[in-house]
Amino acid sequence: MELNELLAKAEDRLSKIHPTLADKARQLIAKAHKEGIDLVVTQGLRTIAEQNALYAQGRTKLYDDEGNKLKIVTKAKGGSSYHNFGLAFDIAVRKENGDIDWDSTKLYNRIGQLGKSIGLEWGGDFKSIKDTPHFQLTFGLTLSQLRAGKRPSGSTVTSDEAAVVELGAKGELITDTQAKLTSLGFDCGIVDGIAGDKTVAAIKAFQKANGLSVDGIAGTKTLAKLAELIDAKAKAPVAEVKPEKVEAAPAPTKVEDAKPMPKVTSLGDKYSVQVKAKVATDVYKHADVSEKTKTLKAGTVFSVYGYTTAAWAVPGGFVQMKDVEPVAVTLKTGGLNPSMEADFRTYLKKIGLDGALNLAKGGNPSATITASGLDLVKVRKFLDEKGWYYKEAK
Ligand SMILES: [Zn+2]
Repeated sequence: MELNELLAKAEDRLSKIHPTLADKARQLIAKAHKEGIDLVVTQGLRTIAEQNALYAQGRTKLYDDEGNKLKIVTKAKGGSSYHNFGLAFDIAVRKENGDIDWDSTKLYNRIGQLGKSIGLEWGGDFKSIKDTPHFQLTFGLTLSQLRAGKRPSGSTVTSDEAAVVELGAKGELITDTQAKLTSLGFDCGIVDGIAGDKTVAAIKAFQKANGLSVDGIAGTKTLAKLAELIDAKAKAPVAEVKPEKVEAAPAPTKVEDAKPMPKVTSLGDKYSVQVKAKVATDVYKHADVSEKTKTLKAGTVFSVYGYTTAAWAVPGGFVQMKDVEPVAVTLKTGGLNPSMEADFRTYLKKIGLDGALNLAKGGNPSATITASGLDLVKVRKFLDEKGWYYKEAK
């Protein structure tokens, strides 16, 4: 294809990302074209609302409108990718017949080098999940700074543009926001994934209490504040109940209903796991599994964002661990040399997963390991800390 045709095809997506990044994308397309590689831009800006809709696929949204089963397509919730802020784009190699070549590692690696030579960050250098079609420019901003509303100058995405929870909005983000507001004591009524008057009133009350501008629309800033307070709450030690002293001559005192909520430990954004309902499963508003809000049918898959000793925190509330089973995931590592393998085995033994590692023999032996729930989180954290490559095996 001619260079100007490729550039014209890319323009629609490039026009929505940061102008500096768009410029580099055009340069990359030109550089690759010189080497006989035709590039198309497959993804540019993906707003937080779009990302959340994608995230819901295969998780809380299990079927499409025609009843077809949906697969999980992304690990990232809205706000956890530079795409959400117009600071990333993905490319693909276009073959002569117009098909996309997704498989040529050699070509994608070459394109990665070209991108880096013009100052782009390349997903092929990511430590955990390598993403060779992905390029980004962070401008030194972390995702949490971006979620909190910071933007590089010239940004195409304003802080308010990502506003997602407003009157009439529906979906997982709404459920999640309602659950968070509820758990912080701002009453949204029923946690149902639909932002009605009560949700808007709760958002306003939350905004007022936290010195945010009170408009009843939870945008990036409000959502970031909400996430921050939920995190702090999950980390805070449970208030201790003072042991009651037996007084010699007690006057009848009023017994306070001071039973603390169980402590919820957050998994953190990066380490979501899933659980599947074994039976029709009740969802509760509170961590002590009180106040049932709804019952979901057996087979429902929930994303977990935290846990107590007996319950998983899921969007919309809490489910009892006994009602659900963790969904197992198989991770496949990159090459493991003997000392890495020994390290890995020692760690697995420590967490009681000895024997779970399957080593694939060969010139560059990789390994697979299947785990679920908190074990899965531990294994992924171990691999991430080591900086070893791994991916989810299909
Ligand atoms: Zn990407």
